[in-house]
Amino acid sequence: MARALVFDGERCLACRSCELACAVVHSRSRRLDEAIVEEPRPRRRVSVVRGVNGVDALRCEQCDEPLCVFACKSGALHRVPADGRVVLDEERCVGCLMCLMVCPYGIRPDPARDLVTRCDVCAGLDVPACVNACPTHALQARDETVARAHTDFDGHVVIVGSSAAGVAACEAAREHAPGCAITVVTADQGPEYSRPLLAYALAGRVDASLLQWRPERYLEHELGATVVRGVRAVGLDITRRTLTLSNGQEIGFDRLVIAAGARSARVNVPGATLEGVFGLRDLEDLEAIDRAAMAGRRAVVVGGGNVGLQVSEALVDRKLSVTLVVKSAYPLSQMVDEETGRRVGDLFARHGVTVRTGRDVVEMVGREQVEQVRLDSGELLPADIVIVGKGVAPDLEWLKGSGVQLRRGVVVDACARTNVPGVFAAGDCAESVDPVSRRSEISAIWPVAYEMGRAAGSTAVGVEQSTPGALRMNASRFFGVSIISIGETVPERLAGASVHSLVNDGSRYRKLVYRDGRLVGAVLYGDVSGAGTYYRLYREAIDVRDGALEELAVRVMRKDQELRT
Ligand SMILES: Cc1cc2nc3c(=O)[nH]c(=O)nc-3n(C[C@H](O)[C@H](O)[C@H](O)COP(=O)(O)OP(=O)(O)OC[C@H]3O[C@@H](n4cnc5c(N)ncnc54)[C@H](O)[C@@H]3O)c2cc1C
Repeated sequence: MARALVFDGERCLACRSCELACAVVHSRSRRLDEAIVEEPRPRRRVSVVRGVNGVDALRCEQCDEPLCVFACKSGALHRVPADGRVVLDEERCVGCLMCLMVCPYGIRPDPARDLVTRCDVCAGLDVPACVNACPTHALQARDETVARAHTDFDGHVVIVGSSAAGVAACEAAREHAPGCAITVVTADQGPEYSRPLLAYALAGRVDASLLQWRPERYLEHELGATVVRGVRAVGLDITRRTLTLSNGQEIGFDRLVIAAGARSARVNVPGATLEGVFGLRDLEDLEAIDRAAMAGRRAVVVGGGNVGLQVSEALVDRKLSVTLVVKSAYPLSQMVDEETGRRVGDLFARHGVTVRTGRDVVEMVGREQVEQVRLDSGELLPADIVIVGKGVAPDLEWLKGSGVQLRRGVVVDACARTNVPGVFAAGDCAESVDPVSRRSEISAIWPVAYEMGRAAGSTAVGVEQSTPGALRMNASRFFGVSIISIGETVPERLAGASVHSLVNDGSRYRKLVYRDGRLVGAVLYGDVSGAGTYYRLYREAIDVRDGALEELAVRVMRKDQELRT
């Protein structure tokens, strides 16, 4: 049974007793007289704000499809299988702010701890403190069983891949079809691990055990799947409905979910296969870089995207001297606008990274081991190691000629269906329609992979579930500065788009992009409060022309600012 807070705005006097009680119950002392002098100041997790239809209370809604859980790349936020409750394991939280990016309700920044705070519906108390304190019963607790649609599908679901999309597909298939058989085929040798945390591990910010984002043998023990590890799918016969594996086995399926992800895109230049040239995509890459990245060595990082920047920061932490080569005019050019990119470049330069923008690599020089990197300007950069972070490329060779439609990725519809009945695809190997550009794209990020995986797993067993498509967003944190980008942040790329600039000062930059009365992009640098509201406006394509929702978004942001002062 999951406990949720129910709010009746008609009864609310906006007395904010709930906020006070919430702060006290989450303080160290749990006593008002002591809590008011505690440092850091106790943070309340429920907030009373002026909403679209009067007063609203922002709290954890225990959503049926909790986007915070789907976006959590460390597994800190997860659902308890027995009762569907969303819980946060603070020990596992890496403070990446992905949950804050997608949730406008119960998750808020906690700058004092560099983490988030979250309404936990006062787990452990008989009655939540806010409910107890509410004089008009506007807030009440309700125990709800999450009702899952069940089907009698009892066929065989085969899932290729055991990362975000594969695990999500397995979870959804099992939730909806308790009687089906599931086999997961995965090239990974060991337990499921989080690829986004690889850079954290490289920096030494998480230890290897935290990479595992689901419990030991989760797929087998909790989801009842048979898992074939360390084996690749190498062929697909859609007429016989069989998959051929790298160990020579053939395996039949009724439904197939292709969740095979992608590998790091390679640079096609002479010397790219020299020793000392790496990509960072899996555990083996991490181990190899870890051995080579000794303090004092010279590293060249090629690519100014999210992975290139994460790796650069990790190598700085490890006391290497780092040069970052960025082909675009500024780092993170796929995610953010020029002003944010310039700030990011300056931030890295302030932390000792040499940032070379507008330059590309044309050669890696060395006999066996890389020694130098030649730029298109002719300049030679000394390099003991080179890390390439130039995006990803799905490895779809094994699907060629199978009849499944391929472009850059496997082409799927909103429910993750391919052109072949019974065959689905999800995650970094799949492309779907970007709701803003209307182009079919791969959005190679964790939350999209996870949501597509869920859609694939559900739809495969007969419970049709769709996603909003190739949404674009990311939450990053570089040298302690948070950045969230949502949708299209460069209005020049979209005909008819206009900009609403909220803040542009020394430490903060906040900008919204609108088109046809809808928020199509947002970039928040230094102050990411309100991100969840912006994300929902973008995701749900809500028409904000009457100004009401925009006002709500701005208010949420102001509330957070008030709290910090
Ligand atoms: C260093 C790094 C940092 C990142 N940072 C972020 C971030 O900050 N935010 C964010 O949203 N995303 C981030 N990402 C991206 C994120 O990790 C991916 O979007 C996500 O992992 C995609 O999940 P997936 O399940 O589609 O594929 P993958 O994670 O690529 O997993 C693919 C799975 O398929 C298996 N497989 C592949 N081929 C076969 C085959 N032929 N047969 C059998 N099994 C196969 C693999 O073994 C693996 O289990 C980062 C990635 C990296 C590497």
